[in-house]
Amino acid sequence: APALHIADLTKRYPTGTEALRGVSLDIAAGEFFGLLGRNGAGKSTLIHCTTGLVRPTSGAIRVFGHDAVDDYEQARTAVGLAPQELNFDWFLTLEETLDYHGGYFGMPRKERRARSAELLEAFSLSEKRRERAMTLSGGMKRRLILARALMHRPRLLILDEPTAGVDVELRLELWRYVRRINAEGTTILLTTHYLEEAEELCDRIAFIDGGRIVAEGTSASLTAEYGVET
Ligand code: ADP
Ligand code: ADP
Repeated sequence: APALHIADLTKRYPTGTEALRGVSLDIAAGEFFGLLGRNGAGKSTLIHCTTGLVRPTSGAIRVFGHDAVDDYEQARTAVGLAPQELNFDWFLTLEETLDYHGGYFGMPRKERRARSAELLEAFSLSEKRRERAMTLSGGMKRRLILARALMHRPRLLILDEPTAGVDVELRLELWRYVRRINAEGTTILLTTHYLEEAEELCDRIAFIDGGRIVAEGTSASLTAEYGVET
């Protein structure tokens, strides 16, 4: 099964807003996929449908074959989400942050310990493991968001605007980490409104506008078709 299969997905909120109007999308296992669109295009709604937070109005959405509505637990466990907002419990230490997240996904204590040590090492956060999240620098907080999202070994990682409002130096640093995550086998869905970021990182890109996919392809093919320069 593909990492993410979306077919003719629509979402109409109770307010009447049609946030998604027939979105179809397939992301293969191992792919690094970019979803580009301006504010209000429907990116968050699509992500929330994938994690089960929003119930689609119609259409299909499956994560590695697990239906995001009918097989919600399995689908959600296959997904790791690095949200745009740094929604930590700021009083927890880094270790506690990861441990709590692992517990939420039902990981046994011993496995949580090993996984958390491994991730803190991989994201160069080991020295801070007993510090509270609130004491971290901006870059460290972004790294902790990635580590937390990976804690329960999701096969699909969703990065929601991972570098929004981040300076160039830190953006390059984060790119190195997310590239490595993908190279190690995790499928990635990245949302961004930086075309340059999607072109730099993604195998394939889709543009979403007004709840519809308006273009899709490799970054090279889209650049040729739309004449977008970077
Ligand atoms: P993006 O993440 O691309 O900015 P969203 O998915 O947040 O786009 O929003 C798509 C559209 O749906 C927007 O018009 C937005 O105002 C609307 N919308 C988002 N969430 C809700 C909600 N909970 N209730 C009503 N309308 C919403
Ligand atoms: P909250 O009260 O903040 O919603 P939860 O216990 O629901 O706390 O979730 C714990 C943390 O795990 C939250 O920070 C939430 O953002 C995150 N989370 C929930 N579902 C997922 C998921 N599928 N992938 C990654 N993180 C998730």
